[in-house]
Amino acid sequence: MQASSVNLPDYEQFCASFSWAQAWRELAGMGDGRLNIAFEALDRHMGTEVAERTAIRFMPRDSQTPVDISYRALNERAARFANVLQDLGVRPGERVYGLSHRIPDLYAAVLGTLKHGCVFTPLFPAFGPEPIRQRVEIGEPAVLVTSERLYRKKVADWVADTPSIRHVLLIDQLDEAPPGTEDAASLMAAASDQYATRAMDPEDPALLHFTSGTTGKPKGALHVHEAVVNHHMTGRYVLDMHPGDIYWCTADPGWVTGTSYGIIAPLTNGVTMVVDEAEFDAERWYRIIQDQKVAVWYTAPTAIRMLIKLGPELPRAHDLSSLRFMASVGEPLNPEAVIWGRKVLGKPFHDNWWQTETGGIMISNYASMEVRPGSMGKPIPGVEAALARKTETGIELITEPDETGELVLKKGWPSMFRGYLHQKEKYRNSFVGDWYLTGDLARRDADGYYWFVGRDDDVIKSSGHLIGPFEVESVLLEHPAVAEAGVIGVPDEIAGETVKAFVALKPGYQADERLRKELMGLARKRLGPAVAPRQIDFREELPRTRSGKIMRRLLRARELGLPEGDTSTLESGGAQ
Ligand code: ATP
Ligand code: MG
Repeated sequence: MQASSVNLPDYEQFCASFSWAQAWRELAGMGDGRLNIAFEALDRHMGTEVAERTAIRFMPRDSQTPVDISYRALNERAARFANVLQDLGVRPGERVYGLSHRIPDLYAAVLGTLKHGCVFTPLFPAFGPEPIRQRVEIGEPAVLVTSERLYRKKVADWVADTPSIRHVLLIDQLDEAPPGTEDAASLMAAASDQYATRAMDPEDPALLHFTSGTTGKPKGALHVHEAVVNHHMTGRYVLDMHPGDIYWCTADPGWVTGTSYGIIAPLTNGVTMVVDEAEFDAERWYRIIQDQKVAVWYTAPTAIRMLIKLGPELPRAHDLSSLRFMASVGEPLNPEAVIWGRKVLGKPFHDNWWQTETGGIMISNYASMEVRPGSMGKPIPGVEAALARKTETGIELITEPDETGELVLKKGWPSMFRGYLHQKEKYRNSFVGDWYLTGDLARRDADGYYWFVGRDDDVIKSSGHLIGPFEVESVLLEHPAVAEAGVIGVPDEIAGETVKAFVALKPGYQADERLRKELMGLARKRLGPAVAPRQIDFREELPRTRSGKIMRRLLRARELGLPEGDTSTLESGGAQ
């Protein structure tokens, strides 16, 4: 399948000539090898034509009329926020947590926090009070930025018991600031709109991100200012952002994607980013793409599957011809979804792979490269990836094609995490020599494309076969009735494990024996009897994290009657 873009360097040539030092040079820097993410995102554009360009095109929840905020205006809002922190006596290095819906002042708060040299941690606004409290206890922020509504619903009951928090700042304040909180809008209005962004050491901490909690308790991954080199470079060359493009990342800044690619990369690259306050709504989404003429669109498989589920009529009723480049991250992107993109939206989705720990995109269907549906693509320039087998003494790299191994990355890319908060040992154990172990299993074909097999924990071992759930799920999704599929291994005396699938159907299909047989037949024909599921159960919904990932460990725990473990990030499919 042909690539969809656009004046980018040839992949192989770029890999051969690329160095991180060169990527550094594309940034402004602040002299003496110092830098600041917020400086690259905002300050450095002042005095250039970018300053008057729209940075945020805000789509308020109950309207389709956008509110535009220029780079200059955003820089001033962020400066005001930095001054507020300074005036409150918050010191560089201290942590600021954000718990807010997507409104412009959340973005000003993130960037103001970074300007002042504090460490920002985003929290997902849909979290319940308990997951918020847990993360506050782990990260001990000095400041919590939130809204009045979220404060009353989710914070007020416990905040007095968390000694680290000295200030609760309410953005989007509706009535009177409740006792114990401060109205950020009036503090910001009184503060200066000038702030000398602090020149940081590249290794100074900038962001603390909690992982999605798909495989267990969420971990706090620490990132430093130098990460911006990655964000900028991958925004430009992997997501194909050109200055002035209209760009839309649908991820919430509560997750790493929504920060790296929903705030930092678009701003350093001078594009206009759409910020939609509302939750997923297919018609609204198509209308935004059409009316705002979105050129570059970064979304997730779970959203794409929802769009597919609702059929091709809606997209066909909209003019989506502005779309130049579409990418997806977060979960494996089934080949069907890539093909649907091309057929219905006119462009293929470019899958790419990364993690909270990697801070930025590591493997991608690079824009000027052929897209292989079902593959994550190839390592981006500057990143060395490999597949490894564990041995008694460490790891051994796999050189033959088409063998499954753990995906490992050579240390040293700028956005690599620098620690798990309070978990030194766990961090150390994530490395063997120079290699970071990702915990994901993959294959590499003879042309160097990587294919996701499954997370280490999710892979099924059946009669000597290693079965990746993704492969089985993708085949089930080929059936027109199937909207979502999650596959697990269940213990079996003879085979060790056998494959069991959970399937949610598209509207209008009947979950009956006939359909079950049809799905079994399809899977057996495509995968062979050893890999096809022995059992298929129908579910209304599958359990998903708030970042949209199917929680196979929960399917397994429920199936086997085991404890459910940490469910703080569970979004839906809560009931069996
Ligand atoms: P936790 O580490 O807490 O269990 P998590 O791993 O889901 O949660 P994230 O860092 O948000 O937390 O997700 C990264 C993981 O998501 C990857 O390790 C991989 O398993 C999966 N993933 C991301 N992108 C892709 C992709 N393109 N294809 C396949 N899997 C992907
Ligand atoms: Mg993980």
